[in-house]
Amino acid sequence: MQDTAPHLSTRLIHHDYTPPDGFMAPAPAVHKASTVIFPNVAAMRTREWKDKSSYTYGLHGTPTTFTLEERLCTLEGGLQCVLVPSGLAAIATVSLALLRSGQQVLIPDNAYGPNASMAAATLAPLGIKHALYDPLNPADLAAKITPATQLVWLEAPGSVTMEFPDLPALLRICQAQGITTALDNTWGAGLAFAPFDLEGDGQLAVDISAHALTKYPSGGGDVLMGSIITRDPALHLKIKLLHMHLGLGIGGNDAEMLLRSLPSMALRYRAHDLAARHLARWLQQQPAVVQVLHPALPGAPGHDHWQRMCGQAHHGDGAAAGLFSIIVDGRYSQQQVDTFCDSLRLFKIGYSWGGPISLVMPYALQAMRSLPTPHLRHGKLVRFSIGLESVQDLQQDLAQALEQAFVPL
Ligand SMILES: *Cc1c(COP(=O)(O)O)cnc(C)c1O
Repeated sequence: MQDTAPHLSTRLIHHDYTPPDGFMAPAPAVHKASTVIFPNVAAMRTREWKDKSSYTYGLHGTPTTFTLEERLCTLEGGLQCVLVPSGLAAIATVSLALLRSGQQVLIPDNAYGPNASMAAATLAPLGIKHALYDPLNPADLAAKITPATQLVWLEAPGSVTMEFPDLPALLRICQAQGITTALDNTWGAGLAFAPFDLEGDGQLAVDISAHALTKYPSGGGDVLMGSIITRDPALHLKIKLLHMHLGLGIGGNDAEMLLRSLPSMALRYRAHDLAARHLARWLQQQPAVVQVLHPALPGAPGHDHWQRMCGQAHHGDGAAAGLFSIIVDGRYSQQQVDTFCDSLRLFKIGYSWGGPISLVMPYALQAMRSLPTPHLRHGKLVRFSIGLESVQDLQQDLAQALEQAFVPL
């Protein structure tokens, strides 16, 4: 069933699982275990934790976590999955599993912040170097690759400033040099584009997709989890070995929350997208806003790349997450921008995204980037994660807060 239904939304609901004899229900059972009990010593001695042929210990998986892993492989088009306690743990596990002293990792300058700070604070003392590349300039990536480069991180679009890179071009540069690529696929979530089939012809794939399940797969703002998905057994084993030695496990109840949320994920993602695009377009017309950073808007940084990768979905309407940023006219003070955020009633001030409640967060753009950003207008950045509230109510809320905070210039 799982392989034959043409649409992902169907495959996420009708998924193979094996209920106990004589029982069938929409949701799979939830198994919880640290100890796994063996029928006898001989069975204990022959069981193998590195593949899914048997169960050995809760840390190495239960039927519930194996089911979730399979569904996430279905979502992203991968073959193997490792579950970790957060999205950041997915990033850290990939980097620590693949990098050794003397080697180098390249990270896009607009990446999720803790990726680069983890490289500076944790990888550098291990003798692992890192450098930041301009994601909008494949030639800059090519120039920063050295014989020591072992891993290149990709992210589409970048966190906070939302530039959509030319992923196929970046990937081809890495592949030509035999460098492993890891995509932070949290924004695309397996729905906006296929990380293991970027051009739709089965030819171009990242090596690793890391995903903060905390966001859309959870959908509730209440679970922290991450996944690391691959299509190469040897690469998977390297990650799985480090995962085991770091003792990274996830709980059965959290896995259950994810299994409950996955079937509605495609619908939620589409609803977040439609509302976010409506509000992003409306904000483009507000006088205090000098730039709206949303890859689906014509003129936004990397829009053409978004169009090529994500523009086919929904009969040509394309697919995007419910996330975007605005740059407020630089003549307004940070205090006024803070007042705007504080004046919002439905939008709550908080990190993360993908949940039902709309969120807002001001960011100090200058402190976040090390390379020049000529494509970004001068001003102060505010990021929105659009939830599932009525879009009219959200627009009204934005209108009243804009009016409170920004007197006409
Ligand atoms: C949130 C996020 C992460 C980290 O996920 P956590 O579960 O919060 O640790 C990583 N990458 C991106 C792009 C994110 O948005």
